[in-house]
Amino acid sequence: MMRVFCLFNRHRPIREDVEWTGLHHQGTCKTCGVLIRRLEGGGWRKRRTKKGLN
Ligand SMILES: [Zn+2]
Repeated sequence: MMRVFCLFNRHRPIREDVEWTGLHHQGTCKTCGVLIRRLEGGGWRKRRTKKGLN
């Protein structure tokens, strides 16, 4: 039901799983399970990988 947010690249982190990498916060989306990263302005986006933008 909440997955529709993930389709629009709006994820929500598992709070206990969020960690500081030295550059930004990263964590795992509690809805779809992808690796996500926090934006400066707030909000979470899927992390880009070397394999591609998705
Ligand atoms: Zn998600």
